[in-house]
Amino acid sequence: MDKTQKPVLIIGGGISGVTTVVEIAEVGKEVILIEKMPYLGGNVVKFNNYFPKLCPPTCGLEINFRRIKQNPKIKYFTSSEVQEISGKKGNFKVKIKTSPQYIKNNCTACGKCAEVCPEERPDNFNYGFTKTKAAYLPHEMAFPFKYQIDDEYCKKESCNKCVEACEYNAIDLSAKEEITELEVSSIVTATGWESYDASKIENLNYSDSKNIITNVEFERFIASNGVNENKLLRLTDNTEPKKVAFVQCAGSRDENHLPYCSAVCCSASLKHALTIQELYPTTEVKIFYIDMRVSGRNEDFLIKVQENKNIELVKGKVGKITEVENNNLILEAEDILSGKKIKYEAEMVVLATGIVPSEIKLNLNTNENQFISDTQIEGIIPVACSKKPMDVSSSVKDATAAAVKAIQ
Ligand SMILES: Cc1cc2nc3c(=O)[nH]c(=O)nc-3n(C[C@H](O)[C@H](O)[C@H](O)COP(=O)(O)OP(=O)(O)OC[C@H]3O[C@@H](n4cnc5c(N)ncnc54)[C@H](O)[C@@H]3O)c2cc1C
Repeated sequence: MDKTQKPVLIIGGGISGVTTVVEIAEVGKEVILIEKMPYLGGNVVKFNNYFPKLCPPTCGLEINFRRIKQNPKIKYFTSSEVQEISGKKGNFKVKIKTSPQYIKNNCTACGKCAEVCPEERPDNFNYGFTKTKAAYLPHEMAFPFKYQIDDEYCKKESCNKCVEACEYNAIDLSAKEEITELEVSSIVTATGWESYDASKIENLNYSDSKNIITNVEFERFIASNGVNENKLLRLTDNTEPKKVAFVQCAGSRDENHLPYCSAVCCSASLKHALTIQELYPTTEVKIFYIDMRVSGRNEDFLIKVQENKNIELVKGKVGKITEVENNNLILEAEDILSGKKIKYEAEMVVLATGIVPSEIKLNLNTNENQFISDTQIEGIIPVACSKKPMDVSSSVKDATAAAVKAIQ
């Protein structure tokens, strides 16, 4: 390997970015990771568990975080975004903006700042269903493991309580935004996905009914460190729903919303249905689908679901959801197999909303679905969900391939 080569830059610290980083560093090359959130891990850290093995997200991520911590070839910037890229393969120049780091790296995560902080903020890790203090730990397995201060809600020096409480002098409320300029040899975009805005699918009534949640919210509702700590409770009355309906392709494969298949929603809903059965074996679950698209090892889920007498798969697209007096929800669909119109009353509905690409404010080529296109100037390599929806195991394989391309 050419020792004079500049480092590789990875944009996005989800499972694909983190994998690319460790693969590159472990063959001896310098690598820089930029993540816009204050922690690494991306969407996977928010899951209750992940298929196919249904292990907690800590399983895959913890070991990678340890590899990052131990490897001097890796530099990472959290709360940071790339503002500009210029140059060409072998010699790109990039400008990185890092939000003010009010809490320094000598934070021990003792939590005294949060104890004395008088301000609250919606917890974006739980999609705003819970609150934290303005001085907060993003989540219990956050990497880096340090507290953060929310710029929008903190009253800064006019309050100063956290500064007075911190025994380690780790808080500087006058910290400013920083700009770093770097030279890199190649760039991997690993910016991943966001959930499609369910309020845009008006016929499914998400905005007006609290007992309709999305699949990503379901992950946080049910997670042991989530909204209800391993319990599924309705927001309207805090009761456990006895009938839960899943609506597949909520926005996906629909010309009015997302024309493409989001690839992971069927497996995710099968996983969710089995999780409900594990926690509440008598709860009735119905999954309304157009086509059940599961492949590889995830087919085992489909078999398990088909064998479960409390889970029913209904082939039919839900056209309308209406909330009734007791905050239950009436789903209207056509059962394609029997040709009959059906109405089903559920106590909670989960919308399997599709995946859209994360916003990236750089001048990169995109494909017809707005994901980052494979065709870029030489030296810029998109990976995993930044270029199309895929599951974790495909993302990891794609990341390994991207690492090889980036080194070359
Ligand atoms: C409801 C649901 C459940 C799922 N469950 C499973 C499952 O059980 N098993 C499974 O295999 N797959 C599952 N998936 C798919 C899984 O989430 C993806 O495969 C995985 O997240 C892909 O990782 P990634 O790193 O490509 O993207 P992401 O996880 O989205 O990570 C991207 C990272 O890039 C950062 N980023 C974005 N833009 C920028 C920017 N401009 N600058 C800097 N950083 C940026 C983000 O903050 C994020 O940290 C599920 C998906 C959904 C929707």
